[in-house]
Amino acid sequence: GDFPIETDTIVIGAGPGGYVAAIRAAQLGQKVTIVEKGSLGGVCLNVGCIPSKALIAASHRYETALNSEDVGIKAEKVTVDFSKVQEWKAGVVKKLTGGVEGLLKGNKVDIVQGEAYFVDENSLKVMDENSSQTYTFKNAIIATGSRPIELPTFKYSKRVLDSTGALNLDEIPGKLVVIGGGYVGTELGTAYANLGSEVTILEGADDILSGFEKQMTALVKRNLKKKKVEIVTKAMAKGVEETENGVTVKFEAKGEEKTVEADYVLVTVGRKPNTDELGLEQIGVKMTDRGVIEIDKQCRTNVTNIFAIGDIVPGPPLAHKASYEGKIAAEVISGQPSEIDYLGIPAVVFSEPELATVGYTEKQAKDEGLDIDAAKFPFAANGRALSLNNTDGFVKLVTRKEDGLVIGAQIAGANASDMISELGLAIEAGMTVEDIAMTIHAHPTLGEITMEAAEVALGTPIHIV
Ligand code: FAD
Repeated sequence: GDFPIETDTIVIGAGPGGYVAAIRAAQLGQKVTIVEKGSLGGVCLNVGCIPSKALIAASHRYETALNSEDVGIKAEKVTVDFSKVQEWKAGVVKKLTGGVEGLLKGNKVDIVQGEAYFVDENSLKVMDENSSQTYTFKNAIIATGSRPIELPTFKYSKRVLDSTGALNLDEIPGKLVVIGGGYVGTELGTAYANLGSEVTILEGADDILSGFEKQMTALVKRNLKKKKVEIVTKAMAKGVEETENGVTVKFEAKGEEKTVEADYVLVTVGRKPNTDELGLEQIGVKMTDRGVIEIDKQCRTNVTNIFAIGDIVPGPPLAHKASYEGKIAAEVISGQPSEIDYLGIPAVVFSEPELATVGYTEKQAKDEGLDIDAAKFPFAANGRALSLNNTDGFVKLVTRKEDGLVIGAQIAGANASDMISELGLAIEAGMTVEDIAMTIHAHPTLGEITMEAAEVALGTPIHIV
């Protein structure tokens, strides 16, 4: 018999949204059950953020080893053992997913393997192979994430890859075509180009990395060009034919039908929410046509005891956004008055150079009618950047004209991914450019670029005229 198991809060999906929500809810005294049909850590730890950054890091080491003659280092016979790279990457993932399991257990969260399906507003069934178990709950947090969109003309196969396939190749492609120049396509395209693949990126829009400013993407494109990556914009991918040892990709650009041959084609044209097989219609949870769940500022759906977080709700599909929402939902369920405020959510591309943004861009601020200033300082005028041989890029601060309040920042350059946190903090804390300029930054560091950008805003930079 299926005797229902009672719990306070049930979390569906153990990605960066779900596992963080479960831990926070447990910390706040809830009896928590988390259901996962795949692997703990979700997309991010298993087939997303972490393995992609590991592959990028390995590829960067190789590329740097080959190309350091300008600093007087010449390495001979640098080789890649790709199966070793993959093994190392798998080890990183395993360490982290094992860590998540330990953290959940340490917080007394009950981990259940299987696929959850809602029966009604207070119960769901978990199916695993041939067993089924009912759970009753007071509150539920849905954190089921997203999956790659499959184009009907590009059915995934051994050579037509989604991001997971591209991360888990057992060889470095001689030639790789990437369809979609978003951050995933750009990051993985860069990684394989570093490892020696000949890469072509086909992008439907008029530029790659849409959403980032042209002055930022221009730097990335210049580097991709150096790596001999071909970027075709306004390209409509039409279809693919698999040959014995590769693929022929058909596309249209500038009104012409073209083909390109490759060993593999990676298709990254967006993701869709995993909300179609959960029984949500049954309990009346409101969704858009695309299956995105609507939530209020407390991550609550239209059904009062059901919450939703991460890739299945509106906003940028990013791990740190999922985790942030997870904490909010757990706190709200535990009776705290928490609310989401997305202004301080950064977005990063791990390209070369890295791109990062937080808060308003100049354009967004102007479009909203805000009276703003923008101040920029280049990496090339910073001692640390020079001594790292990484002089590409800038820090830009977007500030409110009347008082210099920092409302946004964009960084292109080495370690932009880490540097953006200072500016997220500035926004969260309501700091002005004067606060940043008065903060003593260690010398020589890339952080001084941020300090100097603040001094540019004040009209008194030291290292630029
Ligand atoms: P997910 O991580 O997708 O987790 C959802 C979990 O729910 C899955 O484990 C799934 O198995 C489980 N599940 C689904 N349905 C059920 C069910 N019915 N029952 C039980 N379990 C279920 N983001 C960043 O911020 N930085 C990056 O650098 C970055 N790099 C990325 C690189 C790649 C290649 C990809 C694909 C994504 C990347 N992302 C990155 C995005 C990031 O991975 C996602 O935004 C994040 O994983 C979303 O978290 P989530 O908790 O909403 O869902």
